[in-house]
Amino acid sequence: MSDRKPLAGQKALVTGGSSGIGEAVALALGAAGADVAVNYLSDEHPALNVVDRIRARGGSAIACKADISSEAEVAGMFEHAIDTFGTINILVANAGIQIDAGLTDMTLEQWNRVLAVNLTGQFLCARAATREFLRRGVVPEISRAAGNIICMSSVHQVIPWAGHANYAASKGGIKLLMETMAQELAPRRIRVNAIAPGAIRTPINEPAWNTPQALERLLTLVPYGRIGEPDDIGRAAVWLASDESDYVVGTTLFVDGGMTLYPGFAANG
Ligand code: NAD
Repeated sequence: MSDRKPLAGQKALVTGGSSGIGEAVALALGAAGADVAVNYLSDEHPALNVVDRIRARGGSAIACKADISSEAEVAGMFEHAIDTFGTINILVANAGIQIDAGLTDMTLEQWNRVLAVNLTGQFLCARAATREFLRRGVVPEISRAAGNIICMSSVHQVIPWAGHANYAASKGGIKLLMETMAQELAPRRIRVNAIAPGAIRTPINEPAWNTPQALERLLTLVPYGRIGEPDDIGRAAVWLASDESDYVVGTTLFVDGGMTLYPGFAANG
């Protein structure tokens, strides 16, 4: 058995990499041997903290400021990362937001902002990554693929979610964006897949787990009986980014403790 790390020599960019799932993914990719560009939106301190922790374990990392809904800022972020690392092999398009409102109260601004970050942001980052993957092509000593894109979706790409029409629409959009990119890019040896997390303990959904009552209510939706931790997603991302999953193309990996098994039907058959 070789002790070569699964992502040795690869260069990764993780959007929204300074908190929650993105932080765990950045740390996991770094531990698996990748150099990591940690994207953040505004506050550089948490991003620099992630960078320091990757470096402390012997990895290489940088922080990259960009609003992923801005075409110009995404271009600048990729330029910075590629200038520093020489190329990018892995994109984890993770950044996302929720701005919740019932349908009749939802403003156009709330609708547009969530779509701009969650869907357009992933398109802009995937396009920039793909251009770099195609420029470089396959380097067999590094990976069997010319590049890997992992879209952070959600169980709400399939589960409707009242009061969150903008968010659910953005994640439903990610499903077909991911599958279409996968179909289009597979012949160029670019793999595109998604991870659909269930309930993961992060800042985005804190009210759903930060009291015993809320957690108990949440767990009625999770057959496996525990909330997910960001590391659960980090490990899935390492596998999807590595050659271990080389034949996995256009798939959504649900990491949800069974949330999409419709547990409400378990005792109602
Ligand atoms: P989080 O709030 O900790 O992470 C979101 C990150 O995105 C933050 O770091 C934030 O600064 C960044 N971000 C927001 N807008 C941005 C922008 N315009 N440009 C760049 N970065 C921006 O929450 P999280 O749970 O870690 O969410 C990460 C992803 O996982 C999101 O796409 C979310 O929809 C998805 N997700 C989370 C859960 C969950 O239960 N936590 C479940 C399903 C899907």
